[in-house]
Amino acid sequence: MTFLFQVKSSLPNRLGRTGVITTAHGQIKTPAFIPVGTKATLKSVLPESITDFGAQAVLANAYHLYLQPGPEIVDQAGGLGEFMNWRGPTFTDSGGFQVLSLGVGFKKVIAMDENTFQADDVIADDKERLAHVDDDGVTFKSHLDGSLHRFTPEVSMQVQHQIGADIIFAFDECTTLHNTRSYQEKALERTRLWAQRCLAEHDALTKKRKEKPYQALFGVLQGAQYEDLRRKAAKDLAAMSVGGVSFDGFGVGGALDKQTLGDILRWVNEELPVDKPRHFLGIGEPDDLFVGVENGADTFDCVAPSRQARTSSVFTKDGRVNISNAPHKNEFFPIEKDCSCYTCRNYTRAYLCHLFRSKEMLAATLATIHNQHFIVGLVDQMRKGIEDGTFFDFKAQFMARYYKK
Ligand SMILES: [Zn+2]
Repeated sequence: MTFLFQVKSSLPNRLGRTGVITTAHGQIKTPAFIPVGTKATLKSVLPESITDFGAQAVLANAYHLYLQPGPEIVDQAGGLGEFMNWRGPTFTDSGGFQVLSLGVGFKKVIAMDENTFQADDVIADDKERLAHVDDDGVTFKSHLDGSLHRFTPEVSMQVQHQIGADIIFAFDECTTLHNTRSYQEKALERTRLWAQRCLAEHDALTKKRKEKPYQALFGVLQGAQYEDLRRKAAKDLAAMSVGGVSFDGFGVGGALDKQTLGDILRWVNEELPVDKPRHFLGIGEPDDLFVGVENGADTFDCVAPSRQARTSSVFTKDGRVNISNAPHKNEFFPIEKDCSCYTCRNYTRAYLCHLFRSKEMLAATLATIHNQHFIVGLVDQMRKGIEDGTFFDFKAQFMARYYKK
């Protein structure tokens, strides 16, 4: 079995720590930001660039790869890393978030299960429903062609084993902050039962496919904004063992907002074992990353740095800048003068402004490289800050400048 996590150093009086995750495809020094390559590609950039801007791993989405090209194709290719020509560690999320966020992400409604349906049908009831949850799994329509599909904990494990990422996630029900307390309780219990089924199926698949590199399974903690539910989720999943097999790490997901994310992380990380890694799903804003690191998250993923880059919004130490705006037309210097990324070493703001305005493809590539370098590098600096005792000084200095506006 090739999976290991070692804690190296800790933040005084906080839950934050540094460590090393070892996978079959290499190591990840934590805390680390993991860029998202939804469909087995980090949009608009080559794998060489991913290495060059400092990323240690890539996270893809099981839901998208299940629909296209199909997990059997990725399996035949030799797994996700081989398929996309990325030699480092890989993650896939379970598909639960994508399947259930067909309500939010695709501006359609989520139909919760029939008994609590009315209280929790918060988004709208006259729109087309793309996802239906029941105790056994989720039935959903493909956002690509409307075809009908079903994910259960077992299907999610089978799909993620075929995709073959080093770190995979248990299938969970992702609720929203708008659901009622009673629905959150019910969903949490469903997620707990699904977690047991994931462990059983994962163990069976690991034994069946023993010639394949070991895949680590992370349990996913839900519970929305409720302290008792979050702590219960953490205790339940930390203690869970099916046939002697337990989770290799944990993912913190689901309903949370800026105001509560630090508390939620603290609650669950006070309950979780210190010797297993914790991934914070879907977090990528600088202030949230500081809060996450401080409260004991080891890895993060988010589509935002790339998505914002494609809309010409680039990170600087003084906040985000829309590089396509007129004032940048004749700025013949890099996005940031002291940035060591490929884009800043070779191109000016004026050129990026021109590329965006003329809708050239290279615009997305160059902006993505810079944004990923910025966010990956920011979390790397937090790691160094914990190692050398300067984390809080670095945080104060960064935050004062970045959020000055
Ligand atoms: Zn740069």
